[in-house]
Amino acid sequence: MGERVNVEEIFGENVFTIEKMRERLPKNVYKEVVSVIEGGGELSKQSADVVANAMKNWAVEHGATHYTHWFQPLTGITAEKHDAFIGSPDKDGKMITSFSGKELIKGEPDASSFPSGGLRATFEARGYTTWDITSPAFLKESGTGVTLCIPTAFCSYTGEALDKKTPLLRSMEAVNKQALRIVRLFGNDRATKVNVSVGPEQEYFLIDWDKSMKREDIIFTGRTLFGAMPPKGQEMEDHYFGVIRENVGEFMKDLNKELWKLGVPDKTQHNEVAPGQHELAPIYETANIAVDHNQIIMETMKRVAEHHNMRCLLHEKPFAGVNGSGKHDNWSLCTDDGVNLLDPGDTPNKNVQFLFVLACILKAVDTHADLLRQSAADVGNDHRLGADEAPPAIISVFLGEQLEDVVKQLIETGVAKSSKKGGKLKTGVSTLPEFEKDATDRNRTSPFAFTGNKFEFRMVGSSDSMASSNTTLNTIVAEAFCEAADILEKAEDFDMAVHDLLKQYMTDHQRIIFNGDGYSEAWVEEADRRGLPNIKSTIEAADTLTTKKAVELFERFGVYTKTELESRQEIIFENYAKTINIEALTMIDMASKQIIPAVMKYAGRLARDVNEIKAAGVDASVEADELKEIQTELAKMKKALDKLKSEEAKARKITDPRKLAFFYKDYVRPVMDDLRAPADNLEMLVDKNDWPFPTYADLLFEG
Ligand code: ADP
Ligand code: MG
Repeated sequence: MGERVNVEEIFGENVFTIEKMRERLPKNVYKEVVSVIEGGGELSKQSADVVANAMKNWAVEHGATHYTHWFQPLTGITAEKHDAFIGSPDKDGKMITSFSGKELIKGEPDASSFPSGGLRATFEARGYTTWDITSPAFLKESGTGVTLCIPTAFCSYTGEALDKKTPLLRSMEAVNKQALRIVRLFGNDRATKVNVSVGPEQEYFLIDWDKSMKREDIIFTGRTLFGAMPPKGQEMEDHYFGVIRENVGEFMKDLNKELWKLGVPDKTQHNEVAPGQHELAPIYETANIAVDHNQIIMETMKRVAEHHNMRCLLHEKPFAGVNGSGKHDNWSLCTDDGVNLLDPGDTPNKNVQFLFVLACILKAVDTHADLLRQSAADVGNDHRLGADEAPPAIISVFLGEQLEDVVKQLIETGVAKSSKKGGKLKTGVSTLPEFEKDATDRNRTSPFAFTGNKFEFRMVGSSDSMASSNTTLNTIVAEAFCEAADILEKAEDFDMAVHDLLKQYMTDHQRIIFNGDGYSEAWVEEADRRGLPNIKSTIEAADTLTTKKAVELFERFGVYTKTELESRQEIIFENYAKTINIEALTMIDMASKQIIPAVMKYAGRLARDVNEIKAAGVDASVEADELKEIQTELAKMKKALDKLKSEEAKARKITDPRKLAFFYKDYVRPVMDDLRAPADNLEMLVDKNDWPFPTYADLLFEG
C-alpha cells in the first residue's frame, strides 16, 4: 500500500554530512574541519571560504535558493532569517550565486525582538549568530522552497548567551573536562574526550485540523481551556501500544521519511496512553545534536501533520483529565574510546569506576535537586508535574533493586561483596525460550531513573527545548566530578581514598534515592521528612536560578554568568505572565462570545418549551428543573467571567515581572478554574447541536 521508503537511500539525504565534506573538500581543508569538530578551535578564513562554497554548491544542486543561520533564542523554539544565495549579476547580466566563509561563520540578525531579559536594551540591538560546526548543516523543505539551515549559537554584542545552545555547549565542555580527570584517575589514558549522549523520547497528540480550527483555545494557546470529559478516557488502557490508525500511520510514515532525510535517527513509534496520543524516539546522539534534532522533530511533526489535515499538539496538557505529554531525557557519558561511564556491567559491585560515577551523580542530583527541577519547568508543565500521570515535582533517583542493594552494602560496610542477579525468566511454556532477566524491573513513576546504562530524566515537558535540562545536568555532574577529582588527585593511597569517598557520598546523599511509588501521597510526605525540595510551579522554580549556590556553580564552570542567570529568570517570569494572560483572554472571549450566548439561546428555547408544555396542561417539571440547573451554572459562569475580567485589569497595573507572574499564578489562574467548571457542567446540560465548538470526544475519538 502506498509509496515504499528505502531508509538506506534517503537517510541523511538533506544533510551536509562529514562524508559529503570528505567527498567535496580538498583533503587539507577536510582535515582542518574534522580537527575543529573533534578538538575545538577555529577554521582559518581561507578554509571557511572553501567550506562555504562547497556547502552552497551542494545546497544549490539540491534546489536550495536560500540559507539561514538557524538558532534557538530564549523563546524555546527556533528562529531563522532567510537570505538568497544571490550575488550581484556580472557584466553580461548573469547571476552568480555566492556564499562566503564569513556568511557561513557569522550572522548578525537584528536581535531586538527576541527575549533577552534585560540583557540587551532594544537600542543595543546587535546580536551575533555563530556557526556550531559540530552540528551538521541541513536542507529544510517547506512552503518557502529549500533552505540551507546552518545550526548556530546566538550571543549579544557583549558575548552573553541569548540562546539555549551556547550554555549547552559550555556545559558539555565543562563535564568533558571534569569527567576526563575522573577516567584518568581510574587509569584510562587513551580517552581524549567524554561525550554527553542524549536520547529524547517525544510525546505528542494529533487531532483533526478542521475541528481544531473551530476552537480558539487550541489556536491561541495550544491546549483546551474548556471541555467536559468524554464518557471514555484512557481507563481501558487500549490505546497504549495499540494498533496505529490508518491516517495516523500515514502521518508517521511521512514524518519518518522527512526526519530520515534530515539525518534524524528516529527509531521507535507507538501509540501512547491517552487517546490521540503518540510517541517518537530517536537513537541517542551527542547532546547538542540531539537537542537540535529534537527541535527538528517538533517542527517537522507540526508541518507533516498539516499536510495530513491534522494538528500536532505539543502542549504538556492539551486536555484536562487526560494524560499529558512529556519528553524523556535519556542521558549518559561515553568516552571517545567507547566506555559508557554509566554501564555497570554484570557485576556492578566490582565496577568501582561505575560506582564512583554513580556516587558523584547522586551527590550532584541531591545537592542541586532544585536546579534540576527548574531545568524542566515551563508553564505548560505546571499542569503535569505533581498531577496523576507525571512524576511529582520532587526530584528523587530510582536505582533499582540491584544497585540499591550494592549502595546499601557500601553504606553499611564500605564494600559491596555481591550483586543480585536477574535469574531466568520462566513462562511455563516449553516452546518459549528461557532468557536471563534484567536484574532490575522498571519504575515508571520516578523522575530520574537509572535504566541500565543511562539515566532517564522524565520531568521535561513535551514542548520544551531539551537544552536546559541537559545544560543543568552536565553542570551539576561536572561540579561533583571536579570536587572528587580535587581530592583523589592529591590522595596518597588512591584505592583507600576512592573507598572513603564512595562511602561518604552514598551515605550523605542516600536521601535522594527512592525506589517506591513516586505518584503516591505517602511519598510527598516522606520526601518532606527527608528535606527534599518540592517546588510546585515554574515561577517558584525560577527563583532557584539566582541563589548564591546556583550562581557559584554556573559561574565556576563557565556555563552562565550571574547576569545571564538573572536575565533567564526574568524571561521565565515574563513568559509565564504572557502565557496565562493569553489563556485568560481566550477564555474571556470564548465564554462571552460563544458559550454564554449558546447557553442563553438554548435556555430561552427551553423556557418557551416549559410554557408551551404547561399551556397544554401537562407537567413541565423535568424541563423546568433542567432550566433551573442551567441558569444556576450560567450565573456561576457570569460571576467568574466578571471576576476574571477585573483580575486581568488589575494585572495590567503591575510592572515588576516577578510580581506580575505571581499575580497570574495566585489570582488569575484560580478564577480561570472557576470559570471553566460551570462551563464544563453546562456542556453536559446543553443540546450537543447547540454547543459552539467540538468537544473532547469529537477531538480525541473522531480525529
Ligand atoms: P525505554 O526508555 O523504553 O527503555 P529505550 O531503551 O529504547 O527505551 O531507550 C530510550 C531512549 O534512550 C532512546 O532514545 C535510546 O537511544 C536512548 N538511549 C539508549 N542508550 C543510551 C545512552 N547510553 N545514552 C543516552 N541515551 C540512550
Ligand atoms: Mg523511556
